[in-house]
Amino acid sequence: MLLSGNTNGEFVYNAERIVVTANPKTWEPLEADSGRSGETKTFSLAESPSKVELVQVHEKKGEEVDLAQAKIVVGAGRGFKKQEDLKLAKDLAELLGGALGCSRPLAADLKWLGEEHWIGLSGNEIKPRLYIACGISGQIQHITGCRGAKTIVAINQDEDAPIFEHADYGIVGDVYDVLPKLADHLKAKVTS
Ligand SMILES: Cc1cc2nc3c(=O)[nH]c(=O)nc-3n(C[C@H](O)[C@H](O)[C@H](O)COP(=O)(O)OP(=O)(O)OC[C@H]3O[C@@H](n4cnc5c(N)ncnc54)[C@H](O)[C@@H]3O)c2cc1C
Repeated sequence: MLLSGNTNGEFVYNAERIVVTANPKTWEPLEADSGRSGETKTFSLAESPSKVELVQVHEKKGEEVDLAQAKIVVGAGRGFKKQEDLKLAKDLAELLGGALGCSRPLAADLKWLGEEHWIGLSGNEIKPRLYIACGISGQIQHITGCRGAKTIVAINQDEDAPIFEHADYGIVGDVYDVLPKLADHLKAKVTS
């Protein structure tokens, strides 16, 4: 896939061996076929001395969030006015047993969340069962990272926001009204 997944390309390689890598969950796994078998071959690669010297490794400091593996992701965008208001999205994510993600401005500009929460072209590509985008406009750079979600729910107060073109379900409303109601409803379901 090319141009952020907007087009497909076909390539022919003449090399004797090629190495192809793909992002996790790029394709759905095929049905198991016990009639097929394969052989694992081990090759040793002749390494030429590297001109690069590893000086030090710094562990990335961040919260324990693995968006790529999360089955449910709640994404927060600039619709939130203050960092502490993100609790609304975090609470919903926790209630659903999911993870908290965000659009780029929240991680890159405002630094309200770490980069591990950032969804999109220059952030994480996610493919959860459910993605709930809260106060996110739906620019292509964000959509590129979340369009693999099986179901997208968008909450935005602007009925013309582009996110609704990509959403399976849309709620036109204020995240400050909708999220507490959604959380209360879920809590009532859990306790009933
Ligand atoms: C090279 C490049 C790479 C980029 N990579 C990424 C990327 O990886 N990921 C990414 O996300 N972006 C990326 N961007 C930025 C992207 O273009 C957008 O600017 C960004 O996604 C916008 O974030 P947002 O939707 O949170 O904010 P905004 O576009 O400001 O949208 C906020 C939305 O919230 C709504 N809103 C406001 N208040 C409320 C409320 N109270 N209740 C409900 N809704 C409300 C508004 O109607 C609006 O639609 C990239 C840009 C470039 C140029």
